[in-house]
Amino acid sequence: MRIVLLGPPGAGKGTQATRLIEKLGVPQLSTGDMLRAAVAAGTPIGLKAKAIMDAGQLVPDDVVVGIIDQRIDAPDCATGFILDGFPRTVAQAEALRAMLATKGLKLDAVIELVVDENALVDRMRKRVAETIAAGGTVRADDNPESFKTRLETYRAQTAPVSAHYAERGDLKQVDGMRSIDEVTAAIGTALGR
Ligand code: AMP
Repeated sequence: MRIVLLGPPGAGKGTQATRLIEKLGVPQLSTGDMLRAAVAAGTPIGLKAKAIMDAGQLVPDDVVVGIIDQRIDAPDCATGFILDGFPRTVAQAEALRAMLATKGLKLDAVIELVVDENALVDRMRKRVAETIAAGGTVRADDNPESFKTRLETYRAQTAPVSAHYAERGDLKQVDGMRSIDEVTAAIGTALGR
């Protein structure tokens, strides 16, 4: 299955994607994770992306579209993938459709995690506390200032992606305010699995 997971930062896309990997046996493709790996490795893309990411803004469309275009050609994507954090603009959604069409593929489902925005900052704080408790490294953009920009960026540039898929009749919305298990179950129902 080829799935897109949509939702604002802190909605639980990563958590649910991890569960879907097991259920569906397809990889999670997180452009955020791939960009953070590029930053850590100091690649040209990473060097270009770091300041933009730290500020909570969006990396240019052509960069992320290029990353995904290459990644979905890998053998582990042959039976599908879960896109987490991509597409984030309507232009990326259109590029994704065109890219898949040239490969003779199309999306099977677009799932949006619908959450109360007031809960998101608290979720980010909880994620930071859990990461510190586990001895991990806190994301450079998980601070109140960058998070505020990430939410604004989401509202301005990514919320229209949900509307775009809704207009095409491809969007399935799931209540992301319920427990992790309940959200997983609701996604399963939405996917007919
Ligand atoms: P995430 O891990 O999905 O929250 O992404 C972290 C950051 O990486 C975002 O705030 C953006 O700066 C960048 N990023 C990730 N995915 C995309 C995308 N599809 N388009 C543009 N920027 C992205």
